[in-house]
Amino acid sequence: MHQEKQESQDGRILLYEDYNIRVSSQPNVYGEKFVLRLLKKNTNIRNIFDLGFPGTEEQLKKSIHKKNSITIIAAPTGEGKTTTLYSIMDYLNSPEINITTIEDPVEIRIQGLNQVEIDANKTSFSNSLRTVLRQDPDIILVGEIRDTETGEIAIQAGQTGHYVLSTIHTIDSIEVITRLRKMGLSDYDISSTLATAISQRLVRKLCPKCKKEREFNNEEKKIITTIGEKYNVAFDLSGTTYEASGCKYCNNTGYYDRIGIFEVLDITDQIKEAIMAGKSSLEIRRLALEQSYKPLIIDGLRKVVDGYTTIEELNKKLLIY
Ligand SMILES: [Zn+2]
Repeated sequence: MHQEKQESQDGRILLYEDYNIRVSSQPNVYGEKFVLRLLKKNTNIRNIFDLGFPGTEEQLKKSIHKKNSITIIAAPTGEGKTTTLYSIMDYLNSPEINITTIEDPVEIRIQGLNQVEIDANKTSFSNSLRTVLRQDPDIILVGEIRDTETGEIAIQAGQTGHYVLSTIHTIDSIEVITRLRKMGLSDYDISSTLATAISQRLVRKLCPKCKKEREFNNEEKKIITTIGEKYNVAFDLSGTTYEASGCKYCNNTGYYDRIGIFEVLDITDQIKEAIMAGKSSLEIRRLALEQSYKPLIIDGLRKVVDGYTTIEELNKKLLIY
C-alpha cells in the first residue's frame, strides 16, 4: 500500500503463518480509517449443517444443485456469505463433476475445484466468466454479482445448462429479486433461472463454559410467541433458556464462536409467475409467506429456543423489540 497517497486502498498482510489479513483503508478528516479482516488459512470447510443451516439434507438437496439455474446467497458484508458458499461447494464437490470458481480473491483453497482468482485491476468477473463458460463446467461459482454484465452472463450460464452459485449484497432473500431487476435484468430472465435465494446473518453463540440456565421470562415469552404467531410457527417455551455470563474462556463476553441464521426462498412456480407479472417485492413476500418461506427471524428465534444464543444477541442483528 502507498504511504503517501491520500486515497482509499485495499491490501493484504501476508506476515503470519496461520492468518491472512485483508486491509481496507479510507482517508478521512483525521487521517486514515482502517478495517482489517482476519482470515484463517488452511481452515477446514465446515459442514453446512454445522454452520446452522436449518432443515434436513433432503430439503437442502431440493434447494441447491438444480441444473439450468442460479442460487444466490444474499447478506450484508461480514455475515458469512463466503463461508456458506464454500460449504455448499464442498458438499457438491465430487470427482465426476467439474466445478469452476471465479473469486476475488481466492480465500480458501478446496481440493478438486478449479479456482480462478481475478485481479480487479486487469479483468472483471464478467470477462472471467465468459472464459470459464467456454470451458463448459457443470457448476460455476461467481464470487459476487456486482454489475449488470456479470448478472447477464450468470443468467445466460444458468439458461444454458450450468448451475451457478453466487452472492449479492442485499438484506434478505426477497430483495435479491429487486436487486436483479434494478441491475436491468428482465423479469423473464430472473424467473426462468433463479431457483433459490438464501439469506443469512451471523450471531454469537453462548459460551458453553459459563452460560446460565433459567426459565424464559414473561417478556421473552411474549416476544417469541407474538412473532411466531405472525408467521404461523409455534415455539415450545416450556424448556429453559440461557443467559450470557462471562469467564476466562470467552474473554468475559459470555459468547464463544458464531452460528448462522438462515432463510431460504425457493422460487416456486407461483413465485415465478409473480415475478413475470412484475409484482412488487412486498407482494412476492406475501406470496412466499403463504408457501414454505420463513423469514430470518424465525430461524433466529429457533436458535434462541434451542439454546444456541440469546434474544438480546438476536435483537442486535434483527431489531425485534
Ligand atoms: Zn464463558
